[in-house]
Amino acid sequence: MKSKRRKRDVSRRRTYYRRFKIGHKMDTTPSRDELLTGLRAYDEEVDGVPTVRGMRNEGPYSPHYYKAEFGSWHDALRAADIQPTHGVEPDATREELLTALRDVDERTDRPPRRTDVDEHGEYPYILYDEEFESFVHALEDAGIDPDEKQYRFSSVDTPPEKQGSANVQKLREEGPTPASALPQGRSMKDREHGMWKFTIGSGATKQPDSIYYLNGEHAPELVIRRFFRQNPHVLEYRDPHGIKMAIHKHRPSWKDIGTEIVDELVAEGAIPEASFENLVVVRVDADETLRYCFERSVASLVNVDEMKIDGIDLTGERPIWGFATDHEAMWQALSERDGILFETRPGTVTHYLPVRETVRDTDVMTDLWVEYEDGIRSGGIDQPWPYLVVGGELHELDIPERELVDEFDVELSGEPIQRLDETALESFSNRYGGFESYLRDRDRSGAGSSDIALGDDPTSQDVLETLLGLSIDELPLFAEDSRLEAVDRDVRETAFRNGIYEIYEGCAICGNLFESPNGEHNLEAAHILPKASGGPDVLQNGLALCSRHHWAFDQGWFEIGENYEIRVREYPSLAGYDEFHHFDGESLRLPKQESLRPHPKYIRERNREQDD
Ligand SMILES: [Zn+2]
Repeated sequence: MKSKRRKRDVSRRRTYYRRFKIGHKMDTTPSRDELLTGLRAYDEEVDGVPTVRGMRNEGPYSPHYYKAEFGSWHDALRAADIQPTHGVEPDATREELLTALRDVDERTDRPPRRTDVDEHGEYPYILYDEEFESFVHALEDAGIDPDEKQYRFSSVDTPPEKQGSANVQKLREEGPTPASALPQGRSMKDREHGMWKFTIGSGATKQPDSIYYLNGEHAPELVIRRFFRQNPHVLEYRDPHGIKMAIHKHRPSWKDIGTEIVDELVAEGAIPEASFENLVVVRVDADETLRYCFERSVASLVNVDEMKIDGIDLTGERPIWGFATDHEAMWQALSERDGILFETRPGTVTHYLPVRETVRDTDVMTDLWVEYEDGIRSGGIDQPWPYLVVGGELHELDIPERELVDEFDVELSGEPIQRLDETALESFSNRYGGFESYLRDRDRSGAGSSDIALGDDPTSQDVLETLLGLSIDELPLFAEDSRLEAVDRDVRETAFRNGIYEIYEGCAICGNLFESPNGEHNLEAAHILPKASGGPDVLQNGLALCSRHHWAFDQGWFEIGENYEIRVREYPSLAGYDEFHHFDGESLRLPKQESLRPHPKYIRERNREQDD
């Protein structure tokens, strides 16, 4: 249906109320005559036929009085001699509307939706919405069973038998299930029905798939085992100690069962038992050549496919370090669980390179570490470095050397390159399991952190879990005040988006959610205090909006109040005004969990900034 553009301005409404000296607040129920007078007067003030919504927002009486007195809005219009034509559609009784709706239902294999009604129906959707107060009521009155989603996006409460989504249904039937196997996005509603997720970070570039389960119905053992079956790469990349700690962190009560399962996996050989036995410390700051090599192949990654290094399985962009022939023994000792520490500033450990593969190659070292000018060697290494270490993900650190030395059983010698062996690392290894576990512990204990505890190199799932659990006191007003800011931008933004999609059930303004057959949806995650103004990526600074309302929000059509009321700017002459104006005064559709709703401080800051 093509909507007729109505033009109004604010002054008219004021005149109207003055003229009739009536308002919404009534001490007594208005009489039939008063209702008819009010309706006719309101009809004169608006272009087109008065609507229930219009009456509710700006008319003299609540539409409820009309329903009570006349039976329906249309009967009230008829009683007031107003033709409910909506410009295009003929007058219709409730019964005619319902019959037409049943006809639409015949043509669809699910309860009719708005688009079905507008496409195939004799009468437009809007008539149902107004006549029955809600489309869901119209369906019910027509004897058609609305589906769960239709309740969810209407003002009508979902009846108990309709609650619980397809996701929960699938979990009931199949037990703990990977996120990728669930029918649709997880919502707060799912969580209300006891749906929980289990994820632990992998440390690998591939993100683990969360396992969803029903709290109380599925045993932790089943959940953890299914997670590892689904995500074997987590076992390859993390040491047993780190895995145990990650399970423990997820749910402390799962500590014992998690420990048992990990020990079992170690016995089976699924997790390499050996924790690290060697740490090599390289003082890049002390030596020109070391710095040159570090910049060339560690700080900047090397594409190992292009280098054609024989005998390695790793692919893609990797940090590579090398050892000269006189350090062959040091290189020989290194295995996959070991690592190399670099100090690029005096007295400060700035990088950790986990060893993934070691290989001897005499061809690539000149490409990597020799500099030529006009075909003449001008810098870089001056002796062969054939012993290569291909690394995992490089960790950037800022740890004083003396803090680390306190953890070791030996002092550092001050040599440019030094190896700490098994003996030197024994107590460190017993305490932490591995260097990466040490880094996670250090982060968790809050060394160098002020507010939000995030593990080393967190995945977006890790960040999302942190975001969902952030307490109000931990919310930074500006991103720069937060440790979140230190997290890789892509990881952080993915977590923010996914969190917003998870906690909102549709557009916060119109409630719409459209899903495509290939699993996409139309929601966007908007910042309340914009990023450009320093707004942080916390869920309490976000809103889910459909693309249309995201655009309108960014453009300033909508403002939101600290009590979550929607305010629409008055620009009656602009295209889109009708589309936006009817939301004025309505409430945002927000997450059920109060602590995850927008925090007023971001709203205040946004509004203050826009007033400036
Ligand atoms: Zn919307």
